[in-house]
Amino acid sequence: MKVVLISHTIDPEAVVAAAINQCYSAKSGEELKETISLEKRERLIDIVMNSGHLSTIEHASFTFAVEGVSRVTETQLVRHRHASYSIKSGRYNKTHTDFVIPASIANNPEAMQAVEEFKKSLDQTVEKLKALEIKPEDARYLTPQATKTNIILTMNARGLLNFFEHRLCIRAQWEIRELANEMLKLVKPIAPNIFKFAGPTCETQKICWEGDLSCGKWKAISGAELRTRTVKKSSK
Ligand SMILES: Cc1cc2nc3c(=O)[nH]c(=O)nc-3n(C[C@H](O)[C@H](O)[C@H](O)COP(=O)(O)OP(=O)(O)OC[C@H]3O[C@@H](n4cnc5c(N)ncnc54)[C@H](O)[C@@H]3O)c2cc1C
Repeated sequence: MKVVLISHTIDPEAVVAAAINQCYSAKSGEELKETISLEKRERLIDIVMNSGHLSTIEHASFTFAVEGVSRVTETQLVRHRHASYSIKSGRYNKTHTDFVIPASIANNPEAMQAVEEFKKSLDQTVEKLKALEIKPEDARYLTPQATKTNIILTMNARGLLNFFEHRLCIRAQWEIRELANEMLKLVKPIAPNIFKFAGPTCETQKICWEGDLSCGKWKAISGAELRTRTVKKSSK
């Protein structure tokens, strides 16, 4: 996959710090944005991040161009509702056998052979439907979830932190985890005081909520525990 940060709020942490300070300052937002020192900026962001008053970080937004992810990942991605998405239409897609192949399949010659046979048969079926004058928008019902797509998405910093909590967790599937990792690499240098708080909940909250499905990583994190909403299940 290819992930590019194509746009973001100019000076996002200055905007966020002004928004935080605006809540208890008589100064104008414009003045606050220009005058808050770097030290105060960091202190203000730390306060809201630690207290959970996160509406102020919604003023920073980030737009990514994502190329070559599967429809599997697209489906998982759009579950994150605090975002805007523009996705290549499947209606006009002529590349129905341009697939994302998981490593478990790519590294298994027999599995790859089965995939190649499937592609050939899919190609033949699509050609046959075309000959029968079936529209591409109907032929696409046969498109597999492996098919690659391109997406432009915009999320604000709060939405991104929630996305990272869910999708940097080892329980998330490898492809969306890879996407989340790439996105975090891009935003961290631009808003380091905000995104130093990004990660799965075993890191950000020192709590693993995954119960019996937990990967156990929390055990290696100092002070972390395995919990449900009501019961403290285990701690080191
Ligand atoms: C490992 C893993 C496995 C998963 N498996 C499944 C599965 O099997 N089936 C499935 O359907 N999904 C599954 N999901 C998707 C998951 O249930 C969430 O839909 C997805 O992670 C988006 O999370 P979210 O709702 O917090 O995000 P967002 O939609 O971005 O929402 C962020 C937050 O805003 C608030 N919010 C948003 N909308 C509302 C609303 N309408 N009402 C009240 N509060 C709201 C909530 O506090 C929410 O946490 C899985 C996710 C992961 C990470």
